[in-house]
Amino acid sequence: MKIAVIGSTHAGTAAVTNMANMYPEAQITVYERNDNVSFLSCGLALYVGGVVEDPQGLFYSSPEELQKLGVTIRMQHDVKDIDAETKTIYAENLVTGEQLTDSYDKLVITTGSWPVTPPIEGIDLENILLAKNYNQANTIIERAEHAEKVTVVGAGYIGVELVEAFEKAGKEVTLIDGADRILNKYLDEAFTSIVEEDFENRGITLAMNETVQRFEGSGGQVGRVITNSGSYETDLVIMCVGFRPNTDLVRGIVDTLDNGAIIVNEYMQTSHPDIFAAGDCCAVTYNPTGKHAYIPLATNAVRMGTLAARNIMEPVMPHGGTQGTSGLHIYDYNMASTGLTETSAQLLNVHVKSFTIEETHRPAFMPTAENVKLKVTIDPETRKILGAQVLSKADVTQSINTMSVCIQAGMTIDQLAYVDFFFQPHFNQPWNFLNKAGLEAQQDYNRTPALV
Ligand SMILES: Cc1cc2nc3c(=O)[nH]c(=O)nc-3n(C[C@H](O)[C@H](O)[C@H](O)COP(=O)(O)OP(=O)(O)OC[C@H]3O[C@@H](n4cnc5c(N)ncnc54)[C@H](O)[C@@H]3O)c2cc1C
Repeated sequence: MKIAVIGSTHAGTAAVTNMANMYPEAQITVYERNDNVSFLSCGLALYVGGVVEDPQGLFYSSPEELQKLGVTIRMQHDVKDIDAETKTIYAENLVTGEQLTDSYDKLVITTGSWPVTPPIEGIDLENILLAKNYNQANTIIERAEHAEKVTVVGAGYIGVELVEAFEKAGKEVTLIDGADRILNKYLDEAFTSIVEEDFENRGITLAMNETVQRFEGSGGQVGRVITNSGSYETDLVIMCVGFRPNTDLVRGIVDTLDNGAIIVNEYMQTSHPDIFAAGDCCAVTYNPTGKHAYIPLATNAVRMGTLAARNIMEPVMPHGGTQGTSGLHIYDYNMASTGLTETSAQLLNVHVKSFTIEETHRPAFMPTAENVKLKVTIDPETRKILGAQVLSKADVTQSINTMSVCIQAGMTIDQLAYVDFFFQPHFNQPWNFLNKAGLEAQQDYNRTPALV
């Protein structure tokens, strides 16, 4: 069996290492246009901010390691075309320019995503950079050395992490977003306003509700960002306005969503039986709605890559869908969310009801106790849990992984009220705050006695 894999970051590396171990007889060939594999973009802001000192720690595999597993590695090879009828791959060696043709029995597409670059006037000026791979991270570090004023466009989790890194490095930082608040896809306003206040207290300029109209500069270098209502001097701009799936190669070959994300079944098989796909190039089943969604996360990528490997010979292990669970640490705050927020529910036209708990994470008799804000969102008809968000200076983010399990298992808010959680004064209260959200919901519905 000849298996070809295109792309080797998270989904590709997971697929390749698992397949090499599971099917020692298979001839596996990997095509990767980059000169490295398995770069953890998740550490990019920490690397830019100097927290990660040794960049080697940002890689968990290497071409040599994959080779040791018996895999043929074609690094710096760009796959230009695929003929699904004849099962042929056309690639170019980016170092020598040599054109190469190869055949496969099964193909795994793990080509990932690429940052969106809107067609804004002046976007080609020097020092307007993207933040995705290792080479881009190094360029940001190099250019930031000579920059006093840095502008980040896009207030998603990557933009917000970079803002913190630049501010801590002593830069004058502006964060621009067309939405009315930061992190609007992950957390509701009651949570993001706390982080926004923290940003403003640290001297970070927030330009929310502003869209970039053009970049201006001199000598080919960016010097100013012009928005619909403001103008910001800058030496460096990082564009973090989202990602699009890298799927031009398979356009017309496999079914995709409108944005190009490949649709796979629960066994990671595309609409073409011999082509599997995993990671950022794919759509995933979003459990809170049961529909396909585009949620590019490393967690989804490694899970899907591993499942593509497991299922490539025969369908044995289905994917359980995702809640898009994510966590973030910004300055002193720890936050995490899973499933629907009220904002995302509204966008998706889903009717929800929410319950918020605010208390300290452990009893007041402890020397310190931090405030916790938890919000649980449910379907008011079925009372099933659809989402949860948490924010605290204490690290209670694992509670959101628990809530992710609850959503995936189809639990109701009533069941959550009485789940068995431990109590120990170092960590929590006798009633865990997750239980309390359930009890609060029951009180609200006048079904059970008051909280003890
Ligand atoms: C700054 C940043 C921070 C992030 N932080 C987090 C986080 O904290 N948690 C989290 O879960 N996720 C995080 N993510 C998202 C995560 O990095 C992605 O979801 C993950 O990289 C997806 O992996 P992938 O293998 O599917 O795709 P990609 O990482 O996009 O890799 C695709 C690979 O395919 C190769 N390729 C593409 N086309 C071809 C071709 N034609 N020929 C040959 N090779 C090709 C590319 O060179 C690339 O190596 C972050 C992303 C960024 C950018």
